[in-house]
Amino acid sequence: MIVVLKRGATAEMIQRMIRRVEDLGLKAHVIEGTERTVIAAVGEKRSETVRETLESCEEVEKVVPILASYKVASKETKPEATVVRVRDLVIGGGHVGVIAGPCSVESEAQIIESAKLVKEAGATGLRGGAFKPRTSPYAFQGMKEEGLKLLAAARDATGLAVVTEVMTPHHVELVAKYADVLQIGARNMQNYHLLQAVGETRKPVLLKRGPSATIEEFLLAAEYILDQGNKDVVLCERGVRTFETHTRFTLPLATVPYLHEKTHLPVVVDPSHGTGIASLVLPMSTASVACGADGLIIEMHPDPRKAMSDAQQTVSPEVFRQIMAQAKTVAAALGRTVG
Ligand code: PEP
Ligand code: MN
Repeated sequence: MIVVLKRGATAEMIQRMIRRVEDLGLKAHVIEGTERTVIAAVGEKRSETVRETLESCEEVEKVVPILASYKVASKETKPEATVVRVRDLVIGGGHVGVIAGPCSVESEAQIIESAKLVKEAGATGLRGGAFKPRTSPYAFQGMKEEGLKLLAAARDATGLAVVTEVMTPHHVELVAKYADVLQIGARNMQNYHLLQAVGETRKPVLLKRGPSATIEEFLLAAEYILDQGNKDVVLCERGVRTFETHTRFTLPLATVPYLHEKTHLPVVVDPSHGTGIASLVLPMSTASVACGADGLIIEMHPDPRKAMSDAQQTVSPEVFRQIMAQAKTVAAALGRTVG
C-alpha cells in the first residue's frame, strides 16, 4: 500500500506514520517526492482493516494499493526517476553514465592504463572484475583482493568510480571496502542472500539481468535490495538466452523503454556481454542511447587480443572513443548528456 501524506507533512508526522505502519506488522519505506512524501507499507499482511486504520490518521491524505508485485521498485510508489550518483558517475535523470574497462583486472599496468584511457575518452566509471564468475572452473578466476587493491589505485590515479562484481555474501564487506558500485552478475541475479547482503550496504548496486529472467523476476530481484533500505539500484540489461546462436546472447533493447514505464530505477545496457562480438558493440551502444538507456557498461582493453577473459567482445581504446562520440551525438539530439 502507498500511504500518501498530506502536503507539508512534518518530520515528526512522518516518524509517527512509520511507527504506525510498523505496529501493523508492515515495513515502511519512506519516499520523498518533489510534491509530497509517501510511505510504501509493504509486507505479507494486507487487509481492508489495515488500509482503513492507516487512512483514518489525520496526516494521511489517502491510501492506495500498489498493483505491481515489486512494490518499492514500482513507478506507482515513486513516479520520479531515481538518479544514482557516485563520484562523477551520474546514471539517470537525462545523463547517460558511461562505465568502461576490461572484463578482468589482470595487472597493475593493465588496469592503470585502462583507467587513463577510459578517463581521457570522457567516461566517469571504471569496470574490472576481481572476482570472476567463469563458466569453466579451469578458466582465470580473477585476482581477488589483489585486484580490488589495483582498482582502488586506478581510482586514486583518475578519480573514476570503480564498479566491480561481488559473488558471495561473505565477500560483500571486502568488496565494499574498495568499490564505489557493487555489481551483481547475471548468474547471481536470483541469489537472494547476496541481494540482501548488498541491500544492507549503502553502496550503489548494479544489478545485471539473469540470462533467462523475465522482467518481473528482474524487478523482484531489485526489490530484495530495495527492501533492505538501499535506494541506489541500477538495472543492467546484458542480454538473454534464446534459440539464436549468431550472438553470444540476444540483446533486447525494448527492455529499456519498457522498464522506464514500470520502474523509477535507472537502466544501463551492456552491449559487450549482450552481443559477445566486438564489432557489434559500437552500433548497439549507439542504439542503447537512442532507446533511452541511462548508462552503458563497456568492455575495453588497451590491447583486446591479449585480454585474459572475454577478448572476443572487448573493444579497443580507439573504438571506445568512437562509442563516446556517437553516444554524445545521439544523446544531444535527444536533449541528454553523456559521460
Ligand atoms: C562481467 O561483467 O564481466 C560479467 C561477468 O557479466 P555478466 O554477469 O553479465 O555475465
Ligand atoms: Mn566479461
